[in-house]
Amino acid sequence: MSEETFDVIIVGAGVLGVATAYYIQLNSPEKKILLIDRNLAAGQANTAMSAAAVRNMFASSTNQILTDTSIKYFEYVQNELGHELFFEKTGYLWLLSESQFKQESVQLWMQRMKASGVHYKVYNKKELKELIPGLNVDFSGDEEAELMHLQEADFGLFGGDCGVLDPTRLVEHYFEEFKKITHVKPRFGVCVKKLLLEAVPKLDLPGEPHVWQQKKVTGVITDKGTMRAKTVVLATGAWANELLDPVGIDSMTKAKKRQLFVIHAEDNPKLHDLLDTKGFNELGCIPFTILPSAGVYFRPQLQERGFWIGCGDKFGRGYEYIQTDDMMVPESAYYENSMYPVLAKYLPAFESARPVNSWAGGYCYSPDRIPFVYEECGVLVVNGASGSGIMKADALGRIADALYRGEPEAELFGGKHVSSKMLSIKDRNVEIESVVI
Ligand SMILES: Cc1cc2nc3c(=O)[nH]c(=O)nc-3n(C[C@H](O)[C@H](O)[C@H](O)COP(=O)(O)OP(=O)(O)OC[C@H]3O[C@@H](n4cnc5c(N)ncnc54)[C@H](O)[C@@H]3O)c2cc1C
Repeated sequence: MSEETFDVIIVGAGVLGVATAYYIQLNSPEKKILLIDRNLAAGQANTAMSAAAVRNMFASSTNQILTDTSIKYFEYVQNELGHELFFEKTGYLWLLSESQFKQESVQLWMQRMKASGVHYKVYNKKELKELIPGLNVDFSGDEEAELMHLQEADFGLFGGDCGVLDPTRLVEHYFEEFKKITHVKPRFGVCVKKLLLEAVPKLDLPGEPHVWQQKKVTGVITDKGTMRAKTVVLATGAWANELLDPVGIDSMTKAKKRQLFVIHAEDNPKLHDLLDTKGFNELGCIPFTILPSAGVYFRPQLQERGFWIGCGDKFGRGYEYIQTDDMMVPESAYYENSMYPVLAKYLPAFESARPVNSWAGGYCYSPDRIPFVYEECGVLVVNGASGSGIMKADALGRIADALYRGEPEAELFGGKHVSSKMLSIKDRNVEIESVVI
């Protein structure tokens, strides 16, 4: 089989791969860039599994800038470019007990948001109860709630610039724009088996590259043949380790299973009332809401007249080194025995509600919960979005492009500049993120 050569091969057409492909091609119009994925279309893996919520309410100023600029770009795409992303500003509502609210980490989170100009509002218990009459804010005398260690909702931390969108439409935006300017048709159903590691220069000695030779990743070995490129971009998310380990690059990421369960309001008037909660946003709907205990959250799904229920369980939910097929199977008992009892305690409207659909995927976690964008030996890696890759996609695509071009700084949407190496391993300059769902 003949070997093809490109300037750049981008492996992975999830939201991070397509955003990166678009920005690299936009700023290097002469380069031959090939985008490949083993799936049959773009955005079919974790991007499609996501709750697709977007928030700038992070504790680290690093994540604040990545998300705030990305969200503003999404608004621009929808409002100015006229590409419908179904971006709806539902807002994000964190329900917190008094002791949680007083924690140093929460106070610091609010201080940092204020300093960065991230808008938020604090509601007290009385205001919460007025806005969401169905919210149970008093667990006194409730033995079950005590047994479950449920904390009461004393405060609400609300961010009105946050919301939800359709990740398929977002992928489509970057992918379509990329296709307009690329010289090479993207290829699907192509699985990368290995990164091609070669000696530079090649001496054609048996067994090279030897330890004394300089070496570099010079392409990919796929099930459709070997392809060469000066730069290989790995945007393979929760599968990055499979390709990086064999060449000795430590990806430093781990995957964790995450699942979503869909509840429709159907003929339950209490669920309709909850969905139509007024006072938080112009849509007149309940915001994306995070309950005070157990990591349970839900988002409204207005088109389906329902809710997506998720849980960011921490201790007790194992890390996997890479995302396996088992991870992709949702666990109905998990909803039934873990999430549902919590949900129904805070919001009795969910009592006896059962999922009509569910799915599972994986978060690709970095140790500090901040993404990685770095280049090493011919490979440019974009991953570790730690469960919030949709909402950071635009900034990450621009940073990856600046790094590719050797620019010291990346210009994010709206004109803010950041170091193109701030998300790298060697020159990492980030604040640790504490607000991860
Ligand atoms: C349940 C759940 C809820 C989430 N909720 C949110 C949310 O509300 N907001 C948010 O911002 N984020 C959320 N996320 C996280 C978000 O989905 C990810 O951060 C984002 O999709 C990462 O994008 P990606 O392009 O890195 O990964 P992916 O979309 O997984 O793309 C990686 C691509 O690489 C391809 N690939 C992998 N290995 C190979 C190979 N060897 N050869 C060829 N192709 C390969 C895969 O086929 C895939 O298409 C959620 C995730 C889950 C699972």
